[in-house]
Amino acid sequence: MEVSLWEIELLMKERAREIVQRCGCRLLETHGLPCKCKMDALSDAGMELHPYHLHRFWSSLVYESPPDGAKWEDHDATDRGIFTAMVEDVYRQGPAAVRKAS
Ligand SMILES: [Zn+2]
Repeated sequence: MEVSLWEIELLMKERAREIVQRCGCRLLETHGLPCKCKMDALSDAGMELHPYHLHRFWSSLVYESPPDGAKWEDHDATDRGIFTAMVEDVYRQGPAAVRKAS
């Protein structure tokens, strides 16, 4: 099974996260990836993380090189710009908008 580097990075950050009061299970709810409490429970039970612990979206991804690397980088920069503009717009609207968006 192939996995995305972003997925691995999300899981590693979640695994290293410290639970202060309760997990909140946000990674599970928002990305379909095991949250900290789920990974801790698997570890405590001596179990490993398996593909069936992930939402089926993650196994549906197709990994291939883009046909034109330069075009891909332009597309990536455009997406990043759109995302950054959306985040800045939400922050401009104030704390209530930030809470609603997160
Ligand atoms: Zn959790």
